[in-house]
Amino acid sequence: MRYADVIVSVASRKIDRPFRYLVPDEEGFEDLGVGHLVEVPFGNRSVPGFVVALTDDPPQDFDADVELKPILQVISGPHFDQRAVAIAEWMSEYYASPLANCLNLFTPPLGRNWRKAVKRRPRNDDELPATEAPRHEHLTAGQVASLEAIEHLAGGEILLLDGVTGSGKTEVYLRAIEDTLDRDKGAIVLVPEISLTPQTVGRFRARFGDLISVLHSRLTEAQRAYQLERLRKGETRVVIGPRSALFAPVSDLGMIIIDEEHDHSYKQESDPRYHARRVAQRMAQLSDARLILGSATPSFETLEQVREGSIERIELPQRVNEQPLPPVEVVDMTEEFEAGNRSMFSRVLQEYLEQVKKKKQKAIILLNRRGFANFVLCRECGYVPMCESCDTSLTLHKTHGKLQCHHCGRLEQIPPKCPLCDSPYIASFGAGTQRVEFELNKLFEDWPIVRMDADTTAGRMGHQEQLNAFEALETGVLVGTQMIAKGLDFPEVTLVGIMAADSSLNIPEFTSSERTYQLLEQVAGRAGRGAEEGHVVIQTYQSEHPAIRAATEHDRSIILDQDLAMREELGYPPYTSMANIVISSTDESKAEDAASFIADAVESRFKESSTQLVSLLGPIPCALSKLKGRFRFHILLKGQRNDELGPPIMEALKELTFPTDVRVTVDIDPQSLG
Ligand code: ADP
Ligand code: ZN
Ligand code: ZN
Repeated sequence: MRYADVIVSVASRKIDRPFRYLVPDEEGFEDLGVGHLVEVPFGNRSVPGFVVALTDDPPQDFDADVELKPILQVISGPHFDQRAVAIAEWMSEYYASPLANCLNLFTPPLGRNWRKAVKRRPRNDDELPATEAPRHEHLTAGQVASLEAIEHLAGGEILLLDGVTGSGKTEVYLRAIEDTLDRDKGAIVLVPEISLTPQTVGRFRARFGDLISVLHSRLTEAQRAYQLERLRKGETRVVIGPRSALFAPVSDLGMIIIDEEHDHSYKQESDPRYHARRVAQRMAQLSDARLILGSATPSFETLEQVREGSIERIELPQRVNEQPLPPVEVVDMTEEFEAGNRSMFSRVLQEYLEQVKKKKQKAIILLNRRGFANFVLCRECGYVPMCESCDTSLTLHKTHGKLQCHHCGRLEQIPPKCPLCDSPYIASFGAGTQRVEFELNKLFEDWPIVRMDADTTAGRMGHQEQLNAFEALETGVLVGTQMIAKGLDFPEVTLVGIMAADSSLNIPEFTSSERTYQLLEQVAGRAGRGAEEGHVVIQTYQSEHPAIRAATEHDRSIILDQDLAMREELGYPPYTSMANIVISSTDESKAEDAASFIADAVESRFKESSTQLVSLLGPIPCALSKLKGRFRFHILLKGQRNDELGPPIMEALKELTFPTDVRVTVDIDPQSLG
């Protein structure tokens, strides 16, 4: 008799284990194996499930009286292999996430029509075009050293390519993959957001042609399934895509590359809340593959691992064309104000803008806040309109002339007078990108402006449309939020202006300095990529802050040592391990009660386990204490460095039952504690 262990697709920590079924001795089941999607009876209904093991043994607690149920039908597959099961099991433990959720990363999405296998042949391939990618006969010394280091890397080992923008990292990736293919192995390449990096993707397509599968969010389900099928069959050997491409079925994996490894999009913010870098590390070990991390602004966590010797590093400090990084000028906006300048643009930025316009070049202006004004306020009593569903103030938008909540999207009219004190003096504060566009229009009447933020890029092609519009301009300005900091390569851009550079420093997260520095350094790198010299102007109220100074001087050491020392002293990652458990409900007391239960259960679980907690804080209300009508509490756990907090948390949660309205999320290695 054959038996199959099946993970039913029901995401609950309670039933989070394989169930054993009989494999019928019938036609259609001969080839059943790991990774097949099957239909199985479960309770009084039938549900989809994935086979994770086949065995000839009956279940251990086999009771001859209990009749095992047979699998009803095989629907499709195989979608994954034994290695994928091992990775999903590891993720489930590490991230305290239901195994079904982790396995889902490797499987096609199951819609309501899951009983019908997805058609694999797409009508068209919708492949992103190849861009020019000359294979450079001569490599720079840094590129040669990088390739040598990669060659000496053993399976499971990690190399950081620590190279400034334009230092030729992409060429190193391309060569390293050529070598991997020569060894008859496959490769995974992760890029932050494919819509923002069409140029990089185009170069991979040009170099590897039919051997590469490009996964991006615009693919239909059938197109995606088709690409995955080609990878599984070995027809394509390389996959490039965002974090989810890590789970593509590349046969004989030999190399994983994570470009811009510091990027925040590598963290998934829904269950399982995994970080692609962390999972890739594990995957590389399990697959005996080499892992290459590349960035001009590596994460401080990775740099700490370099220091300890667990990650090797090669530096590429020079641009290939030997152009210097652009000079950066810092303007203290307090001084501007004292000098009588009431404009949001400093005098030096205005002068540079005029020059750019005169020379018919292009400029980029970053303000990491969308909308027109950050909030409105009654000047007489201080009343600020807040969202009814979220614990947050409403943002003023000029395009539709209303107040909008940036968390739930709710729109409200601007009150003509204060609802509390009847005062007509309602003023707006804190500029956003719409305001920058508005003021630029006033200053330079007939100069085209392209704005790129979440409001202008909503459609599927939104990013590309805005980038194309900017590209097509003879001269003009691109105004945008952080989304313009990534990977743009426009040689005509000779000026980058950064407004309110310190706004992200005031966010109470232990990574705020690191993030601010990375954003500034990355966006500064967009200037002066062509033959013309570039300029960068940073406007700030904290010109002496190490994060600002490090970006100004293109010298990471100004912030790195100090920031890591502070984290060590205050007990933050990477010197501790951290977990954030968020409990929410539409009923405030239900959420608070559940949170207390969880805190107690988790604490006692840790007492029984070999993992000692350094601290347990909470439950306390989250910084965002109400979101989309749900009240939120959280529990913050710290463990010793490298301790895995997931397993005891998982065990504690498995034992508890909550009212249906209570939601519990577990975030291991959180990027944000909000
Ligand atoms: P990075 O990925 O570090 O930003 P790229 O690989 O994109 O750098 O290289 C920057 C530019 O230099 C690209 O236009 C690329 O084609 C070119 N380039 C890369 N390597 C060489 C080389 N060895 N010789 C000449 N040009 C090169
Ligand atoms: Zn008032
Ligand atoms: Zn809201």
